[in-house]
Amino acid sequence: MSTEIEKVECLIIGSGPAGYTAAIYAARADMKPVVYEGLQPGGQLTITTDVENYPGYPNGIMGPEMMELFKKQAVRLGADVRFGMVTSVEFTQGGPQKVTVDDTKQIVADSVIICTGASAKWLGLPSEQRLNGSGVSACAVCDGFFYRNTDVAIVGAGDTACEEASYLSKICSKVYMLVRRSEFRASKAMQHRVMNTPNIEVLFNTETDEILGDMTVEAVRVKNNVTGELREIPVNGFFVAIGHTPNTDIFKPYLQLDDQGYIITKPDSTYTNIEGVFCAGDAQDKVYRQAVTAAGSGCMAALDAERWLSARHAAS
Ligand code: NDP
Repeated sequence: MSTEIEKVECLIIGSGPAGYTAAIYAARADMKPVVYEGLQPGGQLTITTDVENYPGYPNGIMGPEMMELFKKQAVRLGADVRFGMVTSVEFTQGGPQKVTVDDTKQIVADSVIICTGASAKWLGLPSEQRLNGSGVSACAVCDGFFYRNTDVAIVGAGDTACEEASYLSKICSKVYMLVRRSEFRASKAMQHRVMNTPNIEVLFNTETDEILGDMTVEAVRVKNNVTGELREIPVNGFFVAIGHTPNTDIFKPYLQLDDQGYIITKPDSTYTNIEGVFCAGDAQDKVYRQAVTAAGSGCMAALDAERWLSARHAAS
């Protein structure tokens, strides 16, 4: 194991819209940010196709290209963006914060901004993986538009699935909602909304057996788990809305997390319960989860960190 210890003023963990935006602001504030990109440089946007809802791109932009541009901007302004995975941390009130990268490299940081995001849960079918980005999506708000006036299916029964089914019902001709139990998990209000939307058909006790299609989604084969009956439903889009998992495991011993693992930040800020550690983006947001909101909170985190560091310097 290497014994090299590097000191940095601002360490940013993660490289989605939150991480790169934090880097842009931190670099311009002369905090010399070091960004570790993590296992999926660019984050969840690198597995989507067109992004049409990020302001400033009137013709839309491909997710991976947009993340390349975010990165270029951060690097041009002086951020040190590195490939590497933060594998463990040791946080203390007020710091300095100890961070280990790739199990070997040791970093001591005055401030840390966590932007590790969340990962969509998937059903685990090979066809789901094969057709991901070609009809299969985990984000109706991102991709629903591409299926306007066609029939789609969405799997899930929580608030997200209901919200996304309602969203899709306004764009698509028909939405089949595949619910594995005989009841929803979502709040009564959301259930009510779904059940009262004429072009949403809820299929209870229904599991996905296979997503069908060679190059794009053409149909879904579903199974009634009470009768065992198999049925094929022609659809062009297949949405998975069975929850997200925030990428926060390594922070658990130090940070306050909610019961689903999202990092709790103080109201109207990106402050965590550890002074000097901030959090932005999907690792702390289970409600909005958009590139633009993640970027906004990345900006907030850099401003919070900068002000916190300045106050500390002024006091010392
Ligand atoms: P949830 O964990 O609440 O729901 C996940 C849903 O997916 C459940 O209905 C579950 O089924 C289903 N599911 C899980 N695995 C599978 C599978 N393999 N096959 C089929 N179905 C599966 O996640 P959400 O993303 O919906 O919500 C996360 C949190 O965010 C919740 O607390 C929710 O209330 C909140 N939220 C609030 C919103 C709001 O207030 N506007 C909007 C969106 C989310 P089962 O029920 O059978 O376990």
